[in-house]
Amino acid sequence: MTQAQLDPHLRMVRAVEPRTPQGCEECLQTGSPWVHLRLCLTCGHVGCCDSSPNRHARWHAGVLGHPIVQSFEPGENWRWCYVHENFT
Ligand SMILES: [Zn+2]
Ligand SMILES: [Zn+2]
Ligand SMILES: [Zn+2]
Repeated sequence: MTQAQLDPHLRMVRAVEPRTPQGCEECLQTGSPWVHLRLCLTCGHVGCCDSSPNRHARWHAGVLGHPIVQSFEPGENWRWCYVHENFT
């Protein structure tokens, strides 16, 4: 895929509010640690990144079919597609 083509998954991006701005939704429930946070741009789920032990952002994308996340780290605003495994 070239950068000139728009990722079709961007159609799933909504104006979302973070559901758990304090951290990863699943890790907060289990008391697990995380490294970085990713925001689902379809439903506002906050999940942990692939460097975290539980990788809940990737898990969420696969289970619910919400492929586009944005970094939830301060000062970062890049987006990632878990289907295309690329920035989008
Ligand atoms: Zn995509
Ligand atoms: Zn997590
Ligand atoms: Zn989602």
